[in-house]
Amino acid sequence: MNIHEYQAKALLQPYGVPVPKGAVVFSAQEALDVANTLTAPFVVKAQIHAGGRGKGGGVKLVQTSAQVKEAASKMLGMTLVTPQTGPEGRLVSKVYVEEGCAIAHEFYLSLLVDRATARLTFLASREGGMDIEEVASDRILKVAIDPVTGFQPFHGRKLAEGLGLTGSQVNAFAKIVRGVYEAFMALDASLIEMNPFVVTPSGDFVALDVKMSFDESALYRHPDICALRDLAEEDPMEVTASEDELSYIKLHGNIGCMVNGAGLAMATLDIITLYGGEPANFLDLGGGADQARVTKAFKIILSDKAVNGVFVNIFGGIMRCDIIAEGIVDAVKTVNMTIPLVVRLEGTNVDLGKEIFAKSGLPIIAVDGFAAAAQRIVQEVA
Ligand code: GDP
Ligand code: MN
Repeated sequence: MNIHEYQAKALLQPYGVPVPKGAVVFSAQEALDVANTLTAPFVVKAQIHAGGRGKGGGVKLVQTSAQVKEAASKMLGMTLVTPQTGPEGRLVSKVYVEEGCAIAHEFYLSLLVDRATARLTFLASREGGMDIEEVASDRILKVAIDPVTGFQPFHGRKLAEGLGLTGSQVNAFAKIVRGVYEAFMALDASLIEMNPFVVTPSGDFVALDVKMSFDESALYRHPDICALRDLAEEDPMEVTASEDELSYIKLHGNIGCMVNGAGLAMATLDIITLYGGEPANFLDLGGGADQARVTKAFKIILSDKAVNGVFVNIFGGIMRCDIIAEGIVDAVKTVNMTIPLVVRLEGTNVDLGKEIFAKSGLPIIAVDGFAAAAQRIVQEVA
């Protein structure tokens, strides 16, 4: 789960991470009121769950509170397109107004889970600012934390020295880095990224931009973090799916996929791609799906306008194929489906399942075998 910049800054501040003073607002008038309580210059920042806002006009540095009002009124309601939003952009419904900060140097600093080493790892670079993706990997310092020892003071010093800091800045920086680590652990984060993390002309550090994500499996321990979820920033179909405990991720193709089990779902995406098709989604029905859930899953798949064929690939282990077949027949009738549907069923009561399809009178294309079924749906949508 991702949160907004203003929320991440508020979460990190108690851990000793310095952030500018500011407040989130929903109207131009509120922006003006907030600016009147802050010291100029000001920064007005669109709050959307995507980076690259600076490039799309979502970050404005201004000198007077009147200009804050003007910038906020332009930003609120605009569809902000950045290199990370895709061409459709994101609607801006709130902006963050904060005190501007003079910048001597912009660093990049993040803490994330490095899957290759299975360790929390700090990444730091002197080349912070907008395009960290473009920075060569040998310009990025990596410091991994051994889970047995946890964070140690030398980790902080190593990062500080690697960034070329000297004197009292080394300890000041190391203290902030420790705070970032403590916040990460205490809040069950999966990513804390500060870009830029700046040093001011007077030598102070400030996290000017913060991105934070959380481990969803641990959210049950953090009701206050769950409350920061902004459903308006998420794909509406993914939100509906998660309400029914369906794992649904929208992809960019035209073949809707309904599968049980995450492994089979991944294999299904692979095999469709292998035969030249393009999956429209990942959808894992889960183990104990009943008829109602199958219907719900169909509705979600079909509500994606890009879908012009559906591939159902089910292995009935715990779940019986006849129950699935009834669910599919029921769903096809309820949603009044008009596009091709290829079904491959295998496992418990598979013959009963096929009989149910045959008797339904619906144009369901039942195909035996994973490869043959995948090839068939690719043909059908071609
Ligand atoms: P992003 O483009 O979505 O990553 O948004 P950022 O918050 O990183 O802002 C983009 C850029 O705007 C930063 O890299 C800074 O150069 C600049 N910026 C943001 N806040 C301030 C500020 O307080 N003062 C100054 N001078 N520049 C700022
Ligand atoms: Mn940034």
